[in-house]
Amino acid sequence: MTDAFDLRLAPAAVHGIVARLRELGFRSWLVGGGVRDALRGVPPADWDVATDARPDDLLRAFPKAVPTGLQHGTVTVVEDGEHYEVTTLRGESAYSDGRHPDAVRFVDDVTADLARRDFTVNAIAVDPATGAVIDPFGGGRDLAARVLRAVGEPRERFAEDGLRVLRAARFVATLEFELDPATAAAIAPTLGTFRKVSPERVRDEWLKTMKARRPSRAFEVMRATGMLAITCPELLEGVGMAQNRWHAFDVWRHGMACMDHCVGDAVLRVAALLHDVGKPRTRAFSDKTRDWTFYDHDRVGAVMAEPICERLRFSNDERRRVVDLVRHHLFHYDEWTDAAVRRWIRRVGRERIADLWALNEADLRGKGDAIDAGDMAPLLRMKEHVARVLAAGDALTVRDLAVDGADLMRELGLPPGKGIGILLGELLELVTEDPARNEPAALLALARRIAADRGMA
Ligand code: ATP
Ligand code: MG
Repeated sequence: MTDAFDLRLAPAAVHGIVARLRELGFRSWLVGGGVRDALRGVPPADWDVATDARPDDLLRAFPKAVPTGLQHGTVTVVEDGEHYEVTTLRGESAYSDGRHPDAVRFVDDVTADLARRDFTVNAIAVDPATGAVIDPFGGGRDLAARVLRAVGEPRERFAEDGLRVLRAARFVATLEFELDPATAAAIAPTLGTFRKVSPERVRDEWLKTMKARRPSRAFEVMRATGMLAITCPELLEGVGMAQNRWHAFDVWRHGMACMDHCVGDAVLRVAALLHDVGKPRTRAFSDKTRDWTFYDHDRVGAVMAEPICERLRFSNDERRRVVDLVRHHLFHYDEWTDAAVRRWIRRVGRERIADLWALNEADLRGKGDAIDAGDMAPLLRMKEHVARVLAAGDALTVRDLAVDGADLMRELGLPPGKGIGILLGELLELVTEDPARNEPAALLALARRIAADRGMA
Protein backbone atom coordinates (compact mmCIF):
# COMPACT_ATOMS: atom_id res chain seq x y z
CA MET A 1 0.00 0.00 0.00
CA THR A 2 1.83 3.08 -1.21
CA ASP A 3 -1.08 5.51 -1.41
CA ALA A 4 -1.28 8.13 1.30
CA PHE A 5 -3.99 7.67 3.88
CA ASP A 6 -6.91 10.09 3.65
CA LEU A 7 -6.45 11.96 6.93
CA ARG A 8 -9.95 13.40 6.75
CA LEU A 9 -11.18 9.94 7.80
CA ALA A 10 -9.84 10.51 11.32
CA PRO A 11 -12.12 12.55 13.59
CA ALA A 12 -11.18 16.04 14.77
CA ALA A 13 -10.55 14.74 18.29
CA VAL A 14 -7.80 12.46 16.99
CA HIS A 15 -6.18 15.34 15.10
CA GLY A 16 -6.43 17.36 18.31
CA ILE A 17 -4.61 14.67 20.32
CA VAL A 18 -1.91 14.44 17.69
CA ALA A 19 -1.49 18.24 17.55
CA ARG A 20 -1.21 18.47 21.34
CA LEU A 21 1.56 15.86 21.34
CA ARG A 22 3.36 17.62 18.48
CA GLU A 23 3.22 20.93 20.43
CA LEU A 24 5.11 19.22 23.25
CA GLY A 25 7.67 17.82 20.84
CA PHE A 26 6.38 14.27 20.57
CA ARG A 27 5.67 12.16 17.50
CA SER A 28 2.56 10.07 17.09
CA TRP A 29 0.87 7.70 14.66
CA LEU A 30 -2.62 6.42 14.04
CA VAL A 31 -2.65 2.66 14.61
CA GLY A 32 -4.85 -0.36 15.25
CA GLY A 33 -8.40 -1.20 14.22
CA GLY A 34 -9.23 2.39 13.25
CA VAL A 35 -6.60 2.47 10.54
CA ARG A 36 -7.53 -1.06 9.44
CA ASP A 37 -11.20 -0.26 9.13
CA ALA A 38 -10.68 3.10 7.42
CA LEU A 39 -8.41 1.42 4.86
CA ARG A 40 -11.02 -1.20 4.07
CA GLY A 41 -13.70 1.43 3.69
CA VAL A 42 -15.64 0.70 6.89
CA PRO A 43 -16.30 3.51 9.39
CA PRO A 44 -13.97 2.79 12.35
CA ALA A 45 -15.51 2.06 15.73
CA ASP A 46 -12.51 3.42 17.57
CA TRP A 47 -9.17 5.10 17.00
CA ASP A 48 -5.87 4.43 18.68
CA VAL A 49 -2.85 6.70 18.78
CA ALA A 50 0.70 5.46 19.38
CA THR A 51 3.32 7.97 20.48
CA ASP A 52 6.91 8.28 21.60
CA ALA A 53 5.70 10.30 24.59
CA ARG A 54 6.24 8.30 27.79
CA PRO A 55 3.39 7.68 30.29
CA ASP A 56 4.40 10.65 32.50
CA ASP A 57 4.42 12.90 29.44
CA LEU A 58 0.98 11.64 28.48
CA LEU A 59 -0.48 12.56 31.85
CA ARG A 60 1.07 16.02 31.53
CA ALA A 61 -0.22 16.42 27.97
CA PHE A 62 -3.73 15.22 28.85
CA PRO A 63 -4.36 16.02 32.52
CA LYS A 64 -7.94 14.80 32.28
CA ALA A 65 -7.04 11.50 30.61
CA VAL A 66 -8.01 8.29 32.38
CA PRO A 67 -4.92 6.20 33.21
CA THR A 68 -6.53 3.00 31.90
CA GLY A 69 -3.29 1.06 31.62
CA LEU A 70 -0.49 3.33 32.66
CA GLN A 71 1.95 0.47 33.38
CA HIS A 72 1.57 -0.53 29.73
CA GLY A 73 1.74 3.09 28.64
CA THR A 74 -1.96 3.55 27.86
CA VAL A 75 -4.19 6.47 28.76
CA THR A 76 -7.70 7.09 27.53
CA VAL A 77 -8.56 10.56 26.36
CA VAL A 78 -12.29 11.25 26.48
CA GLU A 79 -13.72 13.82 24.13
CA ASP A 80 -17.41 14.39 23.45
CA GLY A 81 -18.10 11.06 25.11
CA GLU A 82 -15.78 9.21 22.71
CA HIS A 83 -12.80 7.30 24.05
CA TYR A 84 -9.40 7.47 22.39
CA GLU A 85 -6.55 5.26 23.55
CA VAL A 86 -3.14 6.89 23.47
CA THR A 87 -0.30 4.43 24.02
CA THR A 88 3.43 4.81 24.34
CA LEU A 89 5.32 2.87 21.66
CA ARG A 90 6.21 -0.55 23.04
CA GLY A 91 8.58 -3.23 21.92
CA GLU A 92 8.26 -6.98 22.13
CA SER A 93 9.00 -8.61 25.44
CA ALA A 94 8.73 -12.07 27.01
CA TYR A 95 5.36 -13.49 28.11
CA SER A 96 5.26 -16.17 30.75
CA ASP A 97 1.66 -16.14 31.95
CA GLY A 98 0.09 -16.55 28.54
CA ARG A 99 -1.61 -13.18 28.62
CA HIS A 100 0.65 -10.33 29.77
CA PRO A 101 4.19 -9.36 28.89
CA ASP A 102 6.55 -9.84 31.85
CA ALA A 103 7.90 -6.34 31.48
CA VAL A 104 6.93 -3.40 29.32
CA ARG A 105 9.68 -2.01 27.18
CA PHE A 106 9.06 1.43 25.73
CA VAL A 107 10.73 2.22 22.40
CA ASP A 108 11.01 5.13 19.99
CA ASP A 109 10.59 3.17 16.77
CA VAL A 110 7.08 2.72 15.43
CA THR A 111 8.09 -0.39 13.48
CA ALA A 112 9.10 -2.12 16.71
CA ASP A 113 5.68 -1.23 18.11
CA LEU A 114 3.93 -2.67 15.06
CA ALA A 115 5.94 -5.89 15.39
CA ARG A 116 4.32 -6.74 18.75
CA ARG A 117 0.79 -6.40 17.35
CA ASP A 118 -1.28 -9.48 16.54
CA PHE A 119 -2.22 -9.48 12.86
CA THR A 120 -0.73 -7.76 9.83
CA VAL A 121 -3.95 -5.85 9.14
CA ASN A 122 -3.78 -4.52 12.71
CA ALA A 123 -0.11 -3.59 12.37
CA ILE A 124 -0.34 -0.62 10.01
CA ALA A 125 0.54 2.88 11.20
CA VAL A 126 -0.28 6.21 9.60
CA ASP A 127 1.78 9.37 10.04
CA PRO A 128 -0.88 11.96 10.90
CA ALA A 129 1.20 14.82 9.54
CA THR A 130 1.61 13.44 6.01
CA GLY A 131 -0.79 10.52 5.72
CA ALA A 132 2.16 8.27 4.93
CA VAL A 133 1.35 4.63 5.54
CA ILE A 134 3.89 2.56 7.50
CA ASP A 135 3.20 -1.06 6.73
CA PRO A 136 6.24 -3.25 7.40
CA PHE A 137 4.33 -6.56 7.54
CA GLY A 138 2.24 -6.38 4.38
CA GLY A 139 -1.02 -5.52 6.12
CA GLY A 140 -2.23 -3.55 3.10
CA ARG A 141 -1.70 -6.53 0.83
CA ASP A 142 -3.57 -8.77 3.29
CA LEU A 143 -6.41 -6.27 3.57
CA ALA A 144 -6.80 -6.33 -0.20
CA ALA A 145 -6.69 -10.14 -0.27
CA ARG A 146 -8.95 -10.36 2.83
CA VAL A 147 -6.46 -12.51 4.68
CA LEU A 148 -5.85 -12.59 8.42
CA ARG A 149 -2.19 -13.36 9.04
CA ALA A 150 -0.23 -13.26 12.29
CA VAL A 151 2.64 -10.80 12.49
CA GLY A 152 5.86 -12.81 12.61
CA GLU A 153 5.96 -16.49 13.55
CA PRO A 154 2.33 -17.45 14.27
CA ARG A 155 3.15 -20.25 16.71
CA GLU A 156 5.36 -17.99 18.78
CA ARG A 157 2.84 -15.16 18.75
CA PHE A 158 -0.05 -17.43 19.77
CA ALA A 159 2.05 -19.20 22.40
CA GLU A 160 2.87 -15.92 24.13
CA ASP A 161 -0.69 -14.56 24.35
CA GLY A 162 -3.63 -16.96 24.36
CA LEU A 163 -6.17 -14.26 23.53
CA ARG A 164 -4.84 -13.90 20.00
CA VAL A 165 -6.30 -17.15 18.69
CA LEU A 166 -9.71 -16.07 19.88
CA ARG A 167 -9.26 -12.66 18.29
CA ALA A 168 -8.32 -14.51 15.10
CA ALA A 169 -11.62 -16.37 15.14
CA ARG A 170 -13.49 -13.14 15.85
CA PHE A 171 -11.84 -11.22 13.02
CA VAL A 172 -12.60 -14.06 10.59
CA ALA A 173 -16.25 -13.31 11.33
CA THR A 174 -16.29 -9.54 11.78
CA LEU A 175 -13.97 -8.74 8.88
CA GLU A 176 -15.15 -11.69 6.79
CA PHE A 177 -11.52 -12.57 6.08
CA GLU A 178 -9.94 -15.99 5.62
CA LEU A 179 -7.21 -17.24 7.92
CA ASP A 180 -3.81 -17.54 6.29
CA PRO A 181 -3.04 -21.30 6.34
CA ALA A 182 0.11 -21.00 8.47
CA THR A 183 -1.77 -18.81 10.95
CA ALA A 184 -4.66 -21.29 11.08
CA ALA A 185 -2.28 -24.22 11.55
CA ALA A 186 -0.67 -22.50 14.55
CA ILE A 187 -3.88 -22.45 16.60
CA ALA A 188 -4.22 -26.11 17.60
CA PRO A 189 -0.60 -26.47 18.79
CA THR A 190 -0.89 -23.37 21.01
CA LEU A 191 -4.15 -24.19 22.78
CA GLY A 192 -2.19 -24.68 25.99
CA THR A 193 -1.80 -20.92 26.11
CA PHE A 194 -5.40 -20.36 25.07
CA ARG A 195 -6.49 -22.33 28.16
CA LYS A 196 -5.01 -19.57 30.32
CA VAL A 197 -7.37 -16.93 28.95
CA SER A 198 -9.88 -15.88 31.60
CA PRO A 199 -13.53 -16.83 31.04
CA GLU A 200 -14.45 -13.13 31.11
CA ARG A 201 -12.23 -12.49 28.11
CA VAL A 202 -13.72 -15.46 26.27
CA ARG A 203 -17.19 -14.09 26.96
CA ASP A 204 -16.19 -10.62 25.78
CA GLU A 205 -14.82 -12.03 22.53
CA TRP A 206 -17.97 -14.09 22.01
CA LEU A 207 -20.06 -10.96 22.48
CA LYS A 208 -17.91 -8.97 20.06
CA THR A 209 -18.13 -11.84 17.60
CA MET A 210 -21.91 -11.59 17.71
CA LYS A 211 -21.69 -8.20 15.98
CA ALA A 212 -20.59 -9.96 12.80
CA ARG A 213 -23.07 -10.56 10.02
CA ARG A 214 -22.30 -14.26 10.32
CA PRO A 215 -20.80 -15.12 13.73
CA SER A 216 -20.76 -18.77 12.60
CA ARG A 217 -17.56 -18.00 10.69
CA ALA A 218 -15.82 -17.54 14.06
CA PHE A 219 -17.48 -20.51 15.72
CA GLU A 220 -16.45 -22.76 12.81
CA VAL A 221 -12.85 -21.70 13.41
CA MET A 222 -13.28 -22.36 17.13
CA ARG A 223 -14.72 -25.81 16.41
CA ALA A 224 -12.16 -26.81 13.82
CA THR A 225 -9.15 -25.73 15.88
CA GLY A 226 -10.19 -27.13 19.26
CA MET A 227 -10.94 -23.82 20.99
CA LEU A 228 -14.60 -24.69 21.41
CA ALA A 229 -13.77 -28.05 22.99
CA ILE A 230 -12.19 -26.00 25.77
CA THR A 231 -14.83 -23.29 26.18
CA CYS A 232 -18.08 -25.05 25.28
CA PRO A 233 -17.74 -28.79 24.57
CA GLU A 234 -21.53 -29.20 24.88
CA LEU A 235 -21.95 -27.55 21.48
CA LEU A 236 -19.77 -30.17 19.83
CA GLU A 237 -22.22 -32.94 20.74
CA GLY A 238 -24.37 -31.77 17.84
CA VAL A 239 -21.63 -31.93 15.21
CA GLY A 240 -22.63 -34.43 12.53
CA MET A 241 -25.81 -35.32 14.38
CA ALA A 242 -28.54 -35.68 11.77
CA GLN A 243 -31.99 -34.36 12.66
CA ASN A 244 -35.26 -35.21 10.99
CA ARG A 245 -37.21 -34.54 7.83
CA TRP A 246 -37.84 -30.94 8.83
CA HIS A 247 -34.17 -30.04 8.89
CA ALA A 248 -31.58 -29.83 6.12
CA PHE A 249 -28.77 -29.35 8.68
CA ASP A 250 -27.27 -31.36 11.51
CA VAL A 251 -27.76 -30.00 15.04
CA TRP A 252 -24.49 -28.03 14.98
CA ARG A 253 -25.08 -26.39 11.62
CA HIS A 254 -28.65 -25.56 12.55
CA GLY A 255 -27.36 -23.75 15.66
CA MET A 256 -24.90 -21.86 13.46
CA ALA A 257 -27.61 -20.92 10.96
CA CYS A 258 -30.05 -19.86 13.68
CA MET A 259 -27.40 -17.60 15.25
CA ASP A 260 -26.54 -16.08 11.87
CA HIS A 261 -30.19 -15.41 11.07
CA CYS A 262 -30.98 -14.05 14.52
CA VAL A 263 -31.61 -10.31 14.42
CA GLY A 264 -30.83 -8.74 17.77
CA ASP A 265 -28.23 -7.93 20.35
CA ALA A 266 -25.23 -10.10 21.21
CA VAL A 267 -26.81 -11.90 24.18
CA LEU A 268 -29.86 -12.84 22.13
CA ARG A 269 -27.53 -14.35 19.57
CA VAL A 270 -25.84 -16.37 22.32
CA ALA A 271 -29.29 -17.75 23.11
CA ALA A 272 -29.71 -18.61 19.42
CA LEU A 273 -26.33 -20.37 19.47
CA LEU A 274 -27.40 -22.43 22.49
CA HIS A 275 -31.09 -22.88 21.77
CA ASP A 276 -30.82 -26.56 20.72
CA VAL A 277 -27.89 -27.50 22.95
CA GLY A 278 -30.14 -30.09 24.59
CA LYS A 279 -30.93 -31.94 21.38
CA PRO A 280 -28.06 -34.43 21.31
CA ARG A 281 -28.87 -35.70 24.81
CA THR A 282 -32.56 -36.16 24.04
CA ARG A 283 -32.38 -37.69 20.58
CA ALA A 284 -34.43 -40.89 20.22
CA PHE A 285 -35.70 -42.78 17.20
CA SER A 286 -39.44 -43.05 16.81
CA ASP A 287 -40.61 -46.29 15.21
CA LYS A 288 -43.95 -44.67 14.61
CA THR A 289 -42.68 -41.76 12.49
CA ARG A 290 -39.50 -43.61 11.42
CA ASP A 291 -37.59 -40.48 12.32
CA TRP A 292 -35.55 -38.88 15.10
CA THR A 293 -37.27 -37.06 17.95
CA PHE A 294 -35.89 -34.61 20.52
CA TYR A 295 -38.54 -34.61 23.24
CA ASP A 296 -37.78 -32.28 26.11
CA HIS A 297 -34.71 -30.81 24.43
CA ASP A 298 -35.88 -27.33 25.41
CA ARG A 299 -35.98 -28.25 29.10
CA VAL A 300 -32.72 -30.24 28.99
CA GLY A 301 -31.12 -27.43 26.95
CA ALA A 302 -32.07 -24.84 29.56
CA VAL A 303 -30.51 -27.01 32.27
CA MET A 304 -27.32 -27.19 30.17
CA ALA A 305 -27.29 -23.48 29.26
CA GLU A 306 -27.23 -22.43 32.90
CA PRO A 307 -23.73 -23.75 33.76
CA ILE A 308 -22.43 -22.72 30.34
CA CYS A 309 -23.42 -19.11 31.05
CA GLU A 310 -22.03 -19.35 34.57
CA ARG A 311 -18.75 -20.74 33.30
CA LEU A 312 -18.43 -17.86 30.84
CA ARG A 313 -19.27 -15.37 33.61
CA PHE A 314 -22.32 -13.90 32.00
CA SER A 315 -24.13 -11.56 34.40
CA ASN A 316 -27.12 -12.94 36.28
CA ASP A 317 -29.52 -11.04 34.03
CA GLU A 318 -27.80 -12.25 30.88
CA ARG A 319 -27.76 -15.84 32.14
CA ARG A 320 -31.42 -15.75 33.11
CA ARG A 321 -32.29 -14.34 29.71
CA VAL A 322 -30.37 -17.01 27.80
CA VAL A 323 -31.72 -19.84 29.96
CA ASP A 324 -35.31 -18.58 29.66
CA LEU A 325 -35.04 -18.29 25.90
CA VAL A 326 -33.59 -21.78 25.51
CA ARG A 327 -36.33 -23.07 27.82
CA HIS A 328 -39.16 -21.41 25.90
CA HIS A 329 -37.89 -21.34 22.33
CA LEU A 330 -40.22 -24.09 21.22
CA PHE A 331 -43.88 -23.37 20.58
CA HIS A 332 -46.39 -24.57 18.05
CA TYR A 333 -49.19 -22.10 17.66
CA ASP A 334 -52.37 -23.61 16.39
CA GLU A 335 -55.22 -21.13 16.80
CA TRP A 336 -54.98 -21.13 20.59
CA THR A 337 -57.73 -19.77 22.81
CA ASP A 338 -57.19 -16.41 24.49
CA ALA A 339 -56.73 -18.26 27.77
CA ALA A 340 -54.01 -20.42 26.20
CA VAL A 341 -52.27 -17.28 24.98
CA ARG A 342 -52.47 -15.76 28.47
CA ARG A 343 -51.05 -18.95 29.98
CA TRP A 344 -48.20 -18.86 27.45
CA ILE A 345 -47.40 -15.21 28.23
CA ARG A 346 -47.36 -15.99 31.94
CA ARG A 347 -45.10 -18.99 31.42
CA VAL A 348 -42.49 -17.28 29.23
CA GLY A 349 -42.69 -13.87 30.93
CA ARG A 350 -43.88 -10.76 29.21
CA GLU A 351 -40.37 -9.31 29.00
CA ARG A 352 -39.16 -12.30 26.93
CA ILE A 353 -41.76 -12.07 24.19
CA ALA A 354 -39.90 -9.82 21.74
CA ASP A 355 -36.79 -12.00 22.11
CA LEU A 356 -38.81 -15.15 21.46
CA TRP A 357 -40.22 -13.72 18.22
CA ALA A 358 -36.74 -12.96 16.95
CA LEU A 359 -35.43 -16.35 18.05
CA ASN A 360 -38.34 -18.25 16.54
CA GLU A 361 -37.97 -16.51 13.20
CA ALA A 362 -34.23 -17.29 13.19
CA ASP A 363 -34.99 -20.89 14.17
CA LEU A 364 -37.33 -21.23 11.19
CA ARG A 365 -34.89 -19.60 8.80
CA GLY A 366 -32.12 -21.79 10.16
CA LYS A 367 -33.75 -25.02 9.06
CA GLY A 368 -31.78 -24.90 5.85
CA ASP A 369 -34.13 -24.51 2.96
CA ALA A 370 -35.46 -21.11 2.05
CA ILE A 371 -38.69 -20.74 3.93
CA ASP A 372 -41.81 -19.33 2.36
CA ALA A 373 -44.72 -17.26 3.62
CA GLY A 374 -46.55 -20.45 4.61
CA ASP A 375 -43.79 -21.49 7.00
CA MET A 376 -43.87 -18.10 8.68
CA ALA A 377 -47.68 -17.84 8.84
CA PRO A 378 -48.25 -19.49 12.25
CA LEU A 379 -45.64 -17.21 13.85
CA LEU A 380 -47.30 -14.14 12.35
CA ARG A 381 -50.72 -15.25 13.55
CA MET A 382 -49.36 -15.94 17.02
CA LYS A 383 -47.68 -12.52 17.20
CA GLU A 384 -50.96 -10.92 16.26
CA HIS A 385 -52.90 -12.94 18.82
CA VAL A 386 -50.42 -12.18 21.61
CA ALA A 387 -50.51 -8.47 20.75
CA ARG A 388 -54.31 -8.55 20.90
CA VAL A 389 -54.30 -10.26 24.30
CA LEU A 390 -51.72 -7.84 25.70
CA ALA A 391 -53.70 -4.86 24.40
CA ALA A 392 -56.78 -6.11 26.24
CA GLY A 393 -54.83 -5.42 29.46
CA ASP A 394 -56.08 -8.51 31.30
CA ALA A 395 -54.34 -9.71 34.42
CA LEU A 396 -51.10 -11.61 33.79
CA THR A 397 -49.51 -11.34 37.21
CA VAL A 398 -50.76 -11.36 40.79
CA ARG A 399 -50.16 -7.59 40.87
CA ASP A 400 -52.78 -7.17 38.15
CA LEU A 401 -55.54 -8.72 40.28
CA ALA A 402 -58.36 -6.50 41.53
CA VAL A 403 -57.60 -7.61 45.11
CA ASP A 404 -54.33 -7.84 46.97
CA GLY A 405 -53.09 -9.72 50.02
CA ALA A 406 -54.26 -7.02 52.43
CA ASP A 407 -57.79 -7.23 51.00
CA LEU A 408 -57.85 -10.99 51.50
CA MET A 409 -56.62 -10.75 55.10
CA ARG A 410 -59.11 -8.02 55.97
CA GLU A 411 -62.17 -9.38 54.19
CA LEU A 412 -61.61 -13.06 54.98
CA GLY A 413 -60.05 -12.60 58.41
CA LEU A 414 -56.96 -14.56 57.36
CA PRO A 415 -53.58 -14.29 59.09
CA PRO A 416 -50.56 -13.12 57.09
CA GLY A 417 -48.37 -15.86 55.72
CA LYS A 418 -47.75 -18.23 52.85
CA GLY A 419 -51.44 -19.04 52.48
CA ILE A 420 -52.17 -15.56 51.15
CA GLY A 421 -49.67 -15.90 48.32
CA ILE A 422 -51.04 -19.32 47.40
CA LEU A 423 -54.57 -17.94 47.37
CA LEU A 424 -53.58 -15.04 45.10
CA GLY A 425 -51.90 -17.54 42.76
CA GLU A 426 -55.08 -19.56 42.53
CA LEU A 427 -57.12 -16.45 41.83
CA LEU A 428 -54.71 -15.57 39.02
CA GLU A 429 -55.21 -19.06 37.55
CA LEU A 430 -58.97 -18.52 37.53
CA VAL A 431 -58.65 -15.01 36.08
CA THR A 432 -56.33 -16.33 33.37
CA GLU A 433 -59.11 -18.68 32.29
CA ASP A 434 -61.77 -15.95 32.51
CA PRO A 435 -60.72 -12.29 32.84
CA ALA A 436 -64.32 -11.25 33.63
CA ARG A 437 -63.69 -12.61 37.15
CA ASN A 438 -61.13 -9.88 37.81
CA GLU A 439 -63.25 -7.58 39.93
CA PRO A 440 -63.18 -7.31 43.75
CA ALA A 441 -66.54 -8.88 44.68
CA ALA A 442 -66.12 -11.89 42.39
CA LEU A 443 -62.55 -12.48 43.50
CA LEU A 444 -63.42 -12.23 47.21
CA ALA A 445 -66.25 -14.73 46.71
CA LEU A 446 -63.90 -17.11 44.92
CA ALA A 447 -61.25 -16.64 47.60
CA ARG A 448 -63.78 -17.34 50.37
CA ARG A 449 -64.77 -20.59 48.70
CA ILE A 450 -61.17 -21.72 48.20
CA ALA A 451 -60.21 -20.77 51.77
CA ALA A 452 -63.19 -22.70 53.15
CA ASP A 453 -62.35 -25.76 50.99
CA ARG A 454 -58.81 -25.66 52.34
CA GLY A 455 -59.91 -25.10 55.91
CA MET A 456 -57.90 -21.88 55.96
CA ALA A 457 -60.40 -19.60 57.60
P1 ATP B 1 -11.75 -3.75 17.37
O1 ATP B 1 -11.55 -2.51 18.19
O2 ATP B 1 -12.49 -3.58 16.13
O3 ATP B 1 -12.19 -4.90 18.21
P2 ATP B 1 -8.92 -3.65 17.17
O4 ATP B 1 -7.97 -4.30 16.21
O5 ATP B 1 -8.94 -2.17 17.21
O6 ATP B 1 -10.32 -4.24 16.84
P3 ATP B 1 -8.34 -3.50 19.95
O7 ATP B 1 -8.56 -4.51 21.02
O8 ATP B 1 -9.04 -2.20 19.99
O9 ATP B 1 -8.62 -4.25 18.58
O10 ATP B 1 -6.76 -3.27 19.92
C1 ATP B 1 -6.14 -2.24 19.19
C2 ATP B 1 -4.87 -2.77 18.54
O11 ATP B 1 -3.97 -3.27 19.53
C3 ATP B 1 -5.06 -3.92 17.59
O12 ATP B 1 -5.42 -3.47 16.30
C4 ATP B 1 -3.71 -4.57 17.61
O13 ATP B 1 -2.80 -3.87 16.82
C5 ATP B 1 -3.30 -4.42 19.04
N1 ATP B 1 -3.70 -5.55 19.88
C6 ATP B 1 -4.84 -5.69 20.60
N2 ATP B 1 -4.85 -6.84 21.28
C7 ATP B 1 -3.70 -7.47 21.01
C8 ATP B 1 -3.10 -8.70 21.42
N3 ATP B 1 -3.74 -9.52 22.26
N4 ATP B 1 -1.88 -9.00 20.93
C9 ATP B 1 -1.23 -8.17 20.09
N5 ATP B 1 -1.74 -7.01 19.66
C10 ATP B 1 -2.94 -6.65 20.12
MG1 MG C 1 -10.05 -1.09 18.55
